[in-house]
Amino acid sequence: MSFRRPQELIRPEIRALSAYHVANADGMIKLDAMENPYGWPEALRTAWLDRLRGFALNRYPDPSPSALKRCLREFMAIPDSADLILGNGSDELILLIMLALLAPGRTVLAPEPSFVMYRMVAAFTGLNFVGVPLREGDFSLDMDAMLEAMGRCQPAVVFLASPNNPTGNRFGDRDIDQLIKSAPGLVVVDEAYFAFAEDNLLHRVLDYENLLIMRTLSKMGLAGLRLGLLIGDRGWLNEIDKLRLPYNINILTQASVEFALHHQSVLCQQCQHIRSDRDALLTGLQALPGITVFPSEANFLLFRAPPGQAPRLFTSLKEAGILIKDLSGAGGLLRDCLRVTVGTAEENHAFLATLAATL
Ligand SMILES: *Cc1c(COP(=O)(O)O)cnc(C)c1O
Repeated sequence: MSFRRPQELIRPEIRALSAYHVANADGMIKLDAMENPYGWPEALRTAWLDRLRGFALNRYPDPSPSALKRCLREFMAIPDSADLILGNGSDELILLIMLALLAPGRTVLAPEPSFVMYRMVAAFTGLNFVGVPLREGDFSLDMDAMLEAMGRCQPAVVFLASPNNPTGNRFGDRDIDQLIKSAPGLVVVDEAYFAFAEDNLLHRVLDYENLLIMRTLSKMGLAGLRLGLLIGDRGWLNEIDKLRLPYNINILTQASVEFALHHQSVLCQQCQHIRSDRDALLTGLQALPGITVFPSEANFLLFRAPPGQAPRLFTSLKEAGILIKDLSGAGGLLRDCLRVTVGTAEENHAFLATLAATL
């Protein structure tokens, strides 16, 4: 028997990829992945476990969990006439959007630097990816360059993460409005960090025929459950929903998210806490010699180290048991840049003290 080997059969563009790297964080202060650092109070954990006891693991989950969707609609104030589909994290929704739009020669466009999954999923699906640099200094959208690239590439979809990962800033309302109006196709505004931002676009989702809003519960404190939302016009979502695998939201996620939303004040207070600790962390970073820190409406801060120092700072922090993200390898707008997630007050102090000592 002869069979074709992976080198022959796996698409060359897949073989050229490297798998998404997740750093080992065993026993470390974990400030690398925009997680909420807080757990739930013991009484709430007990009530949650009691609730789970009632669920039958031998049955498939509800394929379109309407009670859960109602809770999410209420929690986020999703307009009644907007449609909603749920994903196994918003990562899955990015994949569904791209699968739905996939055709030879089609393009995905996003500003850069931004969320790496847009580029990766474009590569998985065989869509072209065009990244348009943000502006130096404040990481705002370079509108001339964006409009020029949209005109030239006619993207099937434009992804705008706002607040943006890894830069932390929210894009200007007028810029986003102009891009949606000028786009030849779909625009997805990714509001993964809505819980930490001053404003958002959800209430305006139906003002445009080509706008979808994407959100996730991951950054708020439920990263382990994997739940993302795609919100907008039924005409788009009905089509995208056809690609969703039938039981993509498992029963434990459905039950646990519903439970969490019944106790949403806990999550909301944690996010409020993270926002004020972010501002304290910003002040702490600003006080360090040689560090430039950028303002953020998310639960992380991007900062620039003295030239050439970022890898050394990252390694020293790691040796001290503190994991952040070194983005300096990307160069360009991210030259010498590192990203730190806002942790607990103690974790932030440990980070600042170690960084100060290393500088
Ligand atoms: C973290 C992140 C996501 C992914 O969220 P999941 O729901 O956990 O898959 C999507 N978009 C942006 C901008 C993010 O930073």
